[in-house]
Amino acid sequence: MLRTTTEKFMKKNKPALRRCTACYEMKEKHELIRVVRINANGFVVDVSGKKDGRGAYICLDEKCLEKAQKSRGLERSFKSSVPKEIYEIIKDELSTQNG
Ligand SMILES: [Zn+2]
Repeated sequence: MLRTTTEKFMKKNKPALRRCTACYEMKEKHELIRVVRINANGFVVDVSGKKDGRGAYICLDEKCLEKAQKSRGLERSFKSSVPKEIYEIIKDELSTQNG
């Protein structure tokens, strides 16, 4: 198979990286879970990653979730308190994805 360098270069589409609010590592979107602020007091866990709004990311890792909760990474990102329920939903989501 012969490929020109241009073709190779074009195929090397760099994925957009997002930063985890807990460990600050840059990861691909599918390795993270997104929390979106939909209004002043409302947050949703955006599994599809397509919702509009200000978002923050956490690794699909329970350690990062705990860390984010302890260090208040999400709160810092949103400059607002994040309801406990959001962490619960993320936790559920993690067990679904990992199990
Ligand atoms: Zn992380």
